[in-house]
Amino acid sequence: MLEIQNLVKVYPGAVAALQGVSLRVPLGMFGLLGPNGSGKSTLMRILAGLLEPTSGRVVLDGVDIVAEPQRVWPQLGHLPQAFGFYPNLTGEEMLTHMLRLKGVAAPRGAPKLCAELLERVNLTAAAKRKVKTYSGGMRQRLGIAQAISGDPVLVIVDEPTAGLDPEERVRFYRLLAELAENRTILLSTHIVEDVAMLCPRFAVIRQGRLLATTTPGEAREALAGTMFEGEVARAELEELAATHLVTQAHLVEGRNRVRLHLPAGAAPPGFAAALPTLEDAYLVLTRSAGETAAALPIRAAS
Ligand code: ADP
Ligand code: MG
Repeated sequence: MLEIQNLVKVYPGAVAALQGVSLRVPLGMFGLLGPNGSGKSTLMRILAGLLEPTSGRVVLDGVDIVAEPQRVWPQLGHLPQAFGFYPNLTGEEMLTHMLRLKGVAAPRGAPKLCAELLERVNLTAAAKRKVKTYSGGMRQRLGIAQAISGDPVLVIVDEPTAGLDPEERVRFYRLLAELAENRTILLSTHIVEDVAMLCPRFAVIRQGRLLATTTPGEAREALAGTMFEGEVARAELEELAATHLVTQAHLVEGRNRVRLHLPAGAAPPGFAAALPTLEDAYLVLTRSAGETAAALPIRAAS
């Protein structure tokens, strides 16, 4: 069990990246969902013992991560958001190098451990290829191989699916889901689909504060009866988005298809009740009316 208590991080220049975050992360997969700049990487780096918080505590299975990072390191794996590669090494060479740097125990020898880890992330066939020839998904899987070396109880993965193509993303989801069967995986992301696919529980972070800790089902349920969908002309769309919380404005067959959150009052003419999605729930939590107007690519509908 990972317990985060009232974590605050103020960077030099008075950037308050975390403003009192408290969270209990159970076994299995847990999502940390938030827009860019919300403090996800800051939190991840503190958990990984790479950054000192301004105040607050982080306790992993009874051990204080901030006070005794060396004691926690062997229990912990980390795939950073910007994971550096040695392009001219083969996958096998790079992993061997990283295991050495990490000081992972290999009682049956480093080559054997390396081969097992590559097998685990489905990279055996590419072990002898240079990393520069790897796809984005293969690189992320190599990153996971080092993160899970030493069989840590907690694995932290920071935006691992950003930049992967849809097929690679699905493959990566399967790997993470398997790995979460007997450990805690904390996954940070700004992609709602990541949470929908993987996370039985998740927290939403914005501007360094947690807005909710919930499940996908609960988050959708909270919006029951408040979502409406309809089509509008381009001229009406801007006005609608300025006064209502618009969670989606899509071009469908040349027409503007819009989803609105209406906690009270009557829906505009032509709008019908719609089932809430996780995307709706996320946008309702993190945005207010007017803000979505600027954030959604509604002008593309011209
Ligand atoms: P996320 O990972 O959710 O995109 P970050 O944790 O990277 O968010 O950043 C949170 C906030 O802290 C942002 O406003 C960012 O600009 C700021 N920030 C991040 N790293 C530093 C740093 N080293 N020095 C100053 N400000 C930083
Ligand atoms: Mg980040």
